[in-house]
Amino acid sequence: MARSVLVTGGNRGIGLAIAQAFAAQGDKVAITHRGSAVPEGLFGVKCDVTDAEQVDLAFAEVEAHQGPVEVLVSNAGITDDTLLMRMTEEQFTRVVDANLTGAFRVTKRATRNMLKARFGRIIYISSVVALNGGPGQVNYAASKAGLIGVARSIARELGSRNITANVITPGFIETDMTAVLSEDVKGKALAQIPSGRFGAAAEIAAAVTFLASDGAAYVNGAVLPVDGGLGMGH
Ligand code: NDP
Repeated sequence: MARSVLVTGGNRGIGLAIAQAFAAQGDKVAITHRGSAVPEGLFGVKCDVTDAEQVDLAFAEVEAHQGPVEVLVSNAGITDDTLLMRMTEEQFTRVVDANLTGAFRVTKRATRNMLKARFGRIIYISSVVALNGGPGQVNYAASKAGLIGVARSIARELGSRNITANVITPGFIETDMTAVLSEDVKGKALAQIPSGRFGAAAEIAAAVTFLASDGAAYVNGAVLPVDGGLGMGH
């Protein structure tokens, strides 16, 4: 059955791979962007997830185009790494506002119709850093760990209405976000990955489409690592 899917930050990187995977299986897929071009074959809506009004308008547009959102993938995210001693409160708040409060905004808007439909699949793209922590990533780790609390609370609040909320914790995935890291940082990261390689965005997408599938109806409040073993033990 073709579902109405919305992927935040689906214009590039992991979000784009997720959107393309849903489109390839015949779903109706919308993505949010912040002014960039919309990838071919996808329906794009302009939306910055730090702005509740833009979130509301984007959902209205998606609903008019492809019906109420049945599968929400909260993927949009940023980093602003620096050591705690140098991190300003603004840097902390800005990352949490985009990654965590942004997820709250889209979840709140999406669940309105999911409750009516008595169906919903919500998937949060967190990070291995949520569980492991990361030097220079106090803001990012806090925002990504927060997503686990959000998902598990939603699972408890809405689970009986056939709504699931799950979290994926990707490891090191090759995208623009990781392309900026130095060779030294990449080399050290690689040495920690049991699979001996970085991951591809499509490998996150495969886990997301599974969590949205009928076969995953009884998976709720789960944290699924897709990290080549990097985060094992947490
Ligand atoms: P990219 O930097 O390649 O893409 C980030 C996406 O998020 C872009 O589409 C960007 O939009 C969007 N975005 C950022 N801020 C906002 C905002 N305020 N409102 C709406 N959209 C926004 O990152 P990745 O594809 O690598 O990452 C995707 C997700 O996966 C993120 O949440 C990231 O934290 C997470 N992740 C990534 C890992 C990796 O190794 N790459 C590892 C673990 C987690 P725009 O194009 O307008 O900037």
